[in-house]
Amino acid sequence: MQQEILHLARDFAAGEIAPYAAQWDRDACFPVAVAHRMGQLGFLGMLIPEEYDGLGLDTTSYLLALEAIANADASTAVLMSVHNSLPTQMLLNFGSDEQKERYLKPMARGELIGAFALSEPEAGSDASSLRCQAVRDGDDWLLTGTKSWVTSGSFADVIMVMARTDSSDARRGSKGISAFIVTPDLTGFHVGKKEDKMGLRASPTVMLNFDGLRVPGANLLGAEGQGFIYAMKSLDNGRLGIAAQALGIAQAALDASLDYAAERKQFGQPIREFQAIQFKLADMGSRITSARALLHMTAAAKDRGESTTMHGSMCKLLASETAMYVTTEAIQIFGGYGYVKDYPVEKLFRDAKITEIYEGTSEVQRIVIARELYARRH
Ligand SMILES: Cc1cc2nc3c(=O)[nH]c(=O)nc-3n(C[C@H](O)[C@H](O)[C@H](O)COP(=O)(O)OP(=O)(O)OC[C@H]3O[C@@H](n4cnc5c(N)ncnc54)[C@H](O)[C@@H]3O)c2cc1C
Repeated sequence: MQQEILHLARDFAAGEIAPYAAQWDRDACFPVAVAHRMGQLGFLGMLIPEEYDGLGLDTTSYLLALEAIANADASTAVLMSVHNSLPTQMLLNFGSDEQKERYLKPMARGELIGAFALSEPEAGSDASSLRCQAVRDGDDWLLTGTKSWVTSGSFADVIMVMARTDSSDARRGSKGISAFIVTPDLTGFHVGKKEDKMGLRASPTVMLNFDGLRVPGANLLGAEGQGFIYAMKSLDNGRLGIAAQALGIAQAALDASLDYAAERKQFGQPIREFQAIQFKLADMGSRITSARALLHMTAAAKDRGESTTMHGSMCKLLASETAMYVTTEAIQIFGGYGYVKDYPVEKLFRDAKITEIYEGTSEVQRIVIARELYARRH
């Protein structure tokens, strides 16, 4: 089954993503039809059980598919990762039957695209300091504030928004945050600035401005005050997805480097004959293989029901730093041609950097890992 999924993802990526990815990057535009096509093929419901119209696959199958998509285009992969890991997992694990029927099922079929809105201009790594405020108004909630960096936020149909439900005179920290299911048709919903990014240019990253956004009471996810915990639990999954994305980018850079080193001649021979180049290729391959081994080990542990908080952070840390290392070395192997847009490694280098930043920076991953290492000693 895992091999079948991998082949399906590779065929889709080769036929419907890779030929267009450079153009999408140049245009800073992602065709939403491609997301819906991914949905038809099952890529947007991979971890959702069949009873909710998903494929009900194991985590390894999902990560193999995600890596194959990222190998063709990191922007397409981040849509897939966010959708599968964050809003759909929050609905699956904490949503009511009615919410699952109304939102999760069409999301699993890929008819509705999901997004996740935790970050704010003043609340990044310290996400629990978020300020977006929700207040009750009859049966509804009114949300006021700004969410930043929302991946797919300009076209998403369902956005999981974290907002404060505690009052300003009795702040409850992370326990004062709740999760809301927000749709763009709600009164007071505004898409704000679209970020002009270094990489991942096809993926729209936007601000969302809420000015008394009216959210029906039925769209509160789970229990009031639990939204931050739900978000953190989902980010445990998300980090595995970002690790797979990073590996897809890194593998693409290694493959391009292997081909180029065999073709490019200097001093009368292909540059792959120089030991300096061979050592780079060997280090690139070794780091990718070790990061991938850790990722698949962690995926298997997750499917056995084990906690993967520490290993998930290790996966994201290792894979993202591998992607940055490998794409940097790839540009070096390409020489001047690596620095221009005519060759693929320039885009891969730009796309790799974000994997060290979102869903927890490398510094935050190290904090989590160190904390978990100490927790295991007692
Ligand atoms: C392209 C893109 C897409 C994104 N998509 C989403 C999305 O869909 N939804 C969403 O909610 N968010 C999203 N984000 C936000 C992302 O998760 C944040 O950018 C990230 O969490 C870091 O927050 P920050 O940018 O505010 O940096 P800061 O938190 O301000 O960090 C700045 C620097 O300080 C370091 N630092 C911070 N705290 C500590 C500490 N305690 N110890 C050591 N170092 C520390 C950081 O590691 C970093 O190097 C996205 C961001 C980008 C760029």
